[in-house]
Amino acid sequence: MAGGNAAHDVIVIGLGGMGSCAVAALARRGLRVAGCEQFHALHDRGSSHGRSRIIRLAYFEHPSYVPLLRRAYELWADLESASSRRLYLKTGGLMVGREDSPLVCGTLHSARVHDLPHEILDATALRRRFPATRPFPDEVGVFEEPAGVLFPEACIEAALAVAAAHGAQLTFSAPVTGWSADDHAVRVRLASGSVLEAAHLVVCAGAWAGRLLADLGLPLRVERNVMHWFAPLAGADHALLEPARLPVYILDRPGRPMLYGFPLLDDAGVKAAFHHSGLYADPETLERRVDETEVNAVRDALRAWLPDAAGECLASSACMYTLTPDEHFVIGRHPHHDRVVVACGFSGHGFKFCSVVGEIVADLVIDTVTRHPISLFDVGRFGAC
Ligand SMILES: Cc1cc2nc3c(=O)[nH]c(=O)nc-3n(C[C@H](O)[C@H](O)[C@H](O)COP(=O)(O)OP(=O)(O)OC[C@H]3O[C@@H](n4cnc5c(N)ncnc54)[C@H](O)[C@@H]3O)c2cc1C
Repeated sequence: MAGGNAAHDVIVIGLGGMGSCAVAALARRGLRVAGCEQFHALHDRGSSHGRSRIIRLAYFEHPSYVPLLRRAYELWADLESASSRRLYLKTGGLMVGREDSPLVCGTLHSARVHDLPHEILDATALRRRFPATRPFPDEVGVFEEPAGVLFPEACIEAALAVAAAHGAQLTFSAPVTGWSADDHAVRVRLASGSVLEAAHLVVCAGAWAGRLLADLGLPLRVERNVMHWFAPLAGADHALLEPARLPVYILDRPGRPMLYGFPLLDDAGVKAAFHHSGLYADPETLERRVDETEVNAVRDALRAWLPDAAGECLASSACMYTLTPDEHFVIGRHPHHDRVVVACGFSGHGFKFCSVVGEIVADLVIDTVTRHPISLFDVGRFGAC
């Protein structure tokens, strides 16, 4: 890792979920870090806002994520100790569907490959244990204890504070318009006209990554996703919706997008959303208004699963997934520029990994390799670059 004469060792573009953890990890390891964010800190225009994110271990998407998750949990705990705020709440997690559903099969596969403690509950046991739920008779639930909630705004704030405390220079309202790299340095152009130079560059630009990495031709698609907060029904027993009696959950029912949600965490209401909308968007022109049809579709699904939570919709917020074709991440060194590291394409399930992605990015910048298993995320796997 060469610092050269530049004022910074590394520039990180994007200070959302991934970028905030990357600047923290890089600064903690003694690098002179500059971070550039186009909006203000903790903005709600990207992919990391909305008060809560699920973290879980028995990962239905692929067992290869489990070692990363183990490290992510440790790093979130470290960050929480360094911060005065709660970042994580353990609620347990419930993956519900028919025995042959991709969600249940994938969760059990990961649990068995990695010997993760879990319980399988049939519909009767589910209702007894979590009385607010209404499983269909042919559904089962896989329960795992370590799953819970991350509070994304608090996580990002804590990571930015660690970075700043270790000397990182973080600039907000500073859109990057382009970058270049040669054998000696990287240069980053800001909309203000100024140019920053450093030995290394990290691109954590979320839904905007496709533009900054146009030379890679990554097949990224931005999907609009809306989260909703519902008031419990009048007369509902709120205690049954609180974390002691209701874990975070994902529900996989045939013919519907997966529904996921949270217990009642605060007076904002019960949050629930569909995992996919099938609506693709451009981050610059994303439709942020939410219409009644969208609210009603989620409320109908919630009514069938958690009827007491399906009251008035208190708020909705649009957010973006940055999807790869296989829905696995893109993390690694830029194939044409050794000095550039890329972390994008988190495909709607990345937040829980931000802490370990920060560590991986720091490994790749400083050591050019990482001990973490990231072959699933190979930058060149789609062939375009
Ligand atoms: C509704 C919703 C629910 C989700 N639920 C979960 C969940 O329960 N669990 C989970 O693990 N994951 C979940 N995810 C996914 C997770 O939140 C994302 O994968 C993760 O937040 C992506 O982080 P990021 O850093 O890539 O993007 P962002 O946090 O959006 O950060 C990218 C940043 O780069 C900045 N930027 C872009 N271009 C430039 C530029 N040119 N110059 C300067 N700055 C720039 C942007 O402004 C932004 O701040 C969810 C996502 C959504 C939308």
